[in-house]
Amino acid sequence: MGLQSPLPPDARERAPVPYPLRPHAVVIGAGIGGLAAAIRLGARGYRVTVVDRLDTPGGRATVLKQDGFTFDRGPTLITAPQLLEELWALCGKRMADHVTLKPLDPFYRIAFADGSHLDWGGDEETMRQRITAFAPGEAEGYAKILKESAAIYRVGYEQLSAKPFSQLTDMLRAVPQMALMRADRSLYKMVARYVTDERLRMALSFHPLFIGGNPFNVTAVYALILHLEREFGVHYALGGTGAVVTGLADLVRGEGHTLRLGTDVTRILHEKGRATGVELADGTSLKADVVVSNACTAHTYGKLLADLPKQRWTAKKLAKARYSMGVFLWYFGTKQRYEHLHHHTIQMGPRYRGLLDDIFTEKRLSKDFSLYLHRPSASDPSVAPPGHDAFYALVPVPNLQGKIDWAREAEPMRRRIQAHLEATLLPKLGANLVTSAVATPLDFESRLLSTHGAAFSLEPTLFQSAWFRPHNRSEELEGLYLVGAGTHPGAGVPGVLCSAKVLDEVVPAAAGAHHA
Ligand SMILES: Cc1cc2nc3c(=O)[nH]c(=O)nc-3n(C[C@H](O)[C@H](O)[C@H](O)COP(=O)(O)OP(=O)(O)OC[C@H]3O[C@@H](n4cnc5c(N)ncnc54)[C@H](O)[C@@H]3O)c2cc1C
Repeated sequence: MGLQSPLPPDARERAPVPYPLRPHAVVIGAGIGGLAAAIRLGARGYRVTVVDRLDTPGGRATVLKQDGFTFDRGPTLITAPQLLEELWALCGKRMADHVTLKPLDPFYRIAFADGSHLDWGGDEETMRQRITAFAPGEAEGYAKILKESAAIYRVGYEQLSAKPFSQLTDMLRAVPQMALMRADRSLYKMVARYVTDERLRMALSFHPLFIGGNPFNVTAVYALILHLEREFGVHYALGGTGAVVTGLADLVRGEGHTLRLGTDVTRILHEKGRATGVELADGTSLKADVVVSNACTAHTYGKLLADLPKQRWTAKKLAKARYSMGVFLWYFGTKQRYEHLHHHTIQMGPRYRGLLDDIFTEKRLSKDFSLYLHRPSASDPSVAPPGHDAFYALVPVPNLQGKIDWAREAEPMRRRIQAHLEATLLPKLGANLVTSAVATPLDFESRLLSTHGAAFSLEPTLFQSAWFRPHNRSEELEGLYLVGAGTHPGAGVPGVLCSAKVLDEVVPAAAGAHHA
């Protein structure tokens, strides 16, 4: 028996490399996915520079501060918080020391056009009782849907969401699991098998709208959101989702990495089929061993790599791809507090399928709408001046392929929403308004460079998911990787955090990356 060496053979390689000598990774975009990618790459030995055209990090999750109010521009519901906690843990820290998450109960109120409402939460027994009172005879179907969503979650989320789909074989291996989940069915169809009350069908199927999917078109795999919410809760970050972004950006900087804000990337540089860095708007360039794009995928392939002949994501394919819906957002503050309102209210319009057809297929702006009303001041007085309420109303609308003239339509749309809210949830709204701002798909296009002003990148259809979605390891260029809503698994904070996790599997460890 030989003597065992006290040090494993690769110990020298694992000794910390001085920071300036580490391989360099450039991340284009400081969205939540880009920040998570930076943290993960840093933990794997890279020196990281994150470049974003905006003056503050967060992308869709940036913050609007106006007249003493703090408005999260985008995400408001935090689910699967463990995905965030992992990022702090990778840096030897605890998220709880930096960001306070508050679980919400109920998660949200769902209000229907007939005046009825249902408070949605995670406790099965409470929900069974509420559903029995709301739609007698339907609790059994609800329980069956929960069971199926739990089974789908175990496969769709636990086994597939943070796994790369780089090869066709990855997809083929997943086919039995997809079949098990009946991925060929739409979510609405799956739900409609178990419950007959149309309001309950809406309540159990609308969740994909949170990530840009049409419940009548997305695969039933998205039923996993129901389980995800129940299993890990729906949370609010004190100070707003902006506090999560600040925490992530501080983590990035705290590890010694660089955030270059207010800086446009104009081109991904490449030589002999390999990414070598990025060119910036001022004409200078940054060399890199690996480039990670958190920008919209169509922008990445169509604009930043316009000079690269493509195998798969050609201009033609990008033109034919389906892009998610847009959103119209009205941020407003009131001098009165509306104490009867929950933190989150989802107000369903009179039409469901018809309205979604208008938005996703016909791409026309209808007079009726469904909306999501955010009232963060219900949980957190810091987001509004004392005695005031902060709100945003989010209305799903067609993306810019719909040819709606938003410069003209924005104010009439805002007024329609105000009149509707005044008549339903917020009496005397007009008299109480003290601040107001709107965002339309045009802003998504001009601020975030999102193709067609889509709010959630490529639509999550079956044939734009997993292997069919642009890969996390680029199919077009060695050394280029994608993170964020436009790659696998897709949009939503948990989705983009999982996409960053996939990078751990597809980006070579820093020791294996060659220096620029
Ligand atoms: C209104 C709204 C509400 C939402 N609500 C929720 C919610 O409650 N819960 C949830 O989980 N999800 C929600 N989502 C979805 C979620 O916010 C997004 O899917 C997620 O934040 C997208 O993150 P990302 O990593 O893809 O980056 P993005 O946020 O898309 O950021 C990409 C960044 O890249 C930058 N960039 C692009 N091109 C360039 C370039 N050439 N040079 C430099 N920088 C560039 C942009 O400026 C941007 O900062 C919501 C989305 C919206 C729009």
